[in-house]
Amino acid sequence: MVEHDNLDYLREEMRNITNNIIRLVQDRMEVAKKIGNIKQQLNIEIEDEKVENDIKKSVMEITKDIGMDVEFSGRLLNLLLLESVKLQNIQNNGNKSPTHIAVFMKAKELEKAGKKIIHLEVGEPDFPPPLKVKEELSKIYDNKKYHYTEIPGIPQLRQQISKKFSNVVPEQVLVTPGGRFAVFCAITSLLKPGDELINIEPSWPAYKECAEFIGAKTRLLKTTIEDKWTPNLTTLESLININTKMLILNYPNNPTGKVLDSNLLEKIVSIAKDHNLYILSDEVYSDYSFVKYNSILNYEYDKSIMVSSFSKTYGMTGFRVGYGIANNNIITKMRKVQATSITSVAEPMQYCALAALDNNIQSNIDSIKRRINIICKRLEQMNMEYIAPDGAMYVYPKIIAQNYSSDIALVYDLLEKGVAIAPGSGFGNSYKQFIRISACVSSKLLNDGLDILQNYLT
Ligand code: PMP
Repeated sequence: MVEHDNLDYLREEMRNITNNIIRLVQDRMEVAKKIGNIKQQLNIEIEDEKVENDIKKSVMEITKDIGMDVEFSGRLLNLLLLESVKLQNIQNNGNKSPTHIAVFMKAKELEKAGKKIIHLEVGEPDFPPPLKVKEELSKIYDNKKYHYTEIPGIPQLRQQISKKFSNVVPEQVLVTPGGRFAVFCAITSLLKPGDELINIEPSWPAYKECAEFIGAKTRLLKTTIEDKWTPNLTTLESLININTKMLILNYPNNPTGKVLDSNLLEKIVSIAKDHNLYILSDEVYSDYSFVKYNSILNYEYDKSIMVSSFSKTYGMTGFRVGYGIANNNIITKMRKVQATSITSVAEPMQYCALAALDNNIQSNIDSIKRRINIICKRLEQMNMEYIAPDGAMYVYPKIIAQNYSSDIALVYDLLEKGVAIAPGSGFGNSYKQFIRISACVSSKLLNDGLDILQNYLT
């Protein structure tokens, strides 16, 4: 009887505490709204790492004082931070920079209306897949290769992919619909809501989007053109805390074309090991490396995930075949995402990927490199600063012209004049003075597009 009374009393107390927490969260959101208003008036960025770090520091101190689990309180705090950022973003009308995809969509609209546009905004190679892929495609119907397959991919393809790398067995390969989905599988299966990942900016936007999708928080390690896009290791360490679970690497980098030298990569791996972080290494541009390139797989770090794709290497963007490589434990987690969502990559596409492997694609690599050189040469004649890319398919210059106001205005003006270029801020809010130029069209078209840019800037 006494215990029953006690239970009722404690349940009542629990209800009251929970109600108070909810009221306090709402109070917090009201304050976030007011702050959002001021940010809008002052035209300042919604996310402020310094302010967030200060809150985090004070929460951690209290957490330790009161004997609460620091990892849990950190995750709780991150959920609150994410909610206020989301609220302020909605309130300030999305305030997000349009990415190259938005420019591409707008370009398509203009094309529909009869306008000619040169596409220097998207990273889609203009060369066709190898001829063997065409042959394979034509045989698929008769060979009845149109069924469900094993979740992680057909054995032959996993086998052939594993052979490209030393010390990789087929069981470590997960064939996914594009490299993008391998990134999604890794982030969503390895992180929990409130966990943190570190992303090096400027960056392909998908990592942050995947983190947002599951309520994980992205911490930004910003790199600069002045530092030749080299990540600073002291800053990297300063971003790591008890909630940090993953570091994203993408080299050769989209959009800068940077490749890390092996010394630096080794130091980064060592920091990740010290803090028990996953390393998600997106290497979809590895075949387009013009300097010596080191895969994360060479470091044999058991918490690393390497992502690659057939899209860029073989000109097979629309086939949607990519893959992730990691230890069995990680692959098992990633494959659950695939099993739940798509069953497997379409069987015909897997056979096409198999047919593409081992074809010589050197001429594609040479032509991308030649075009990158053309872009760099042309930029010399304009008011632009840039670091010559070590790889990938892009140049990411800084505009120092007089009549320049914002990358978005510039990009939309240029669209009207017939060339589509990616705004720099689509790869990170601090890069409004940058644009990304893709080397995915013929030299002739590239030069025509750059003429438009040069005329506009001079
Ligand atoms: N990673 C990076 C850095 C990319 O730029 C892209 C495509 N733009 C991808 C992954 C994904 O490519 P896909 O899904 O076509 O393999």
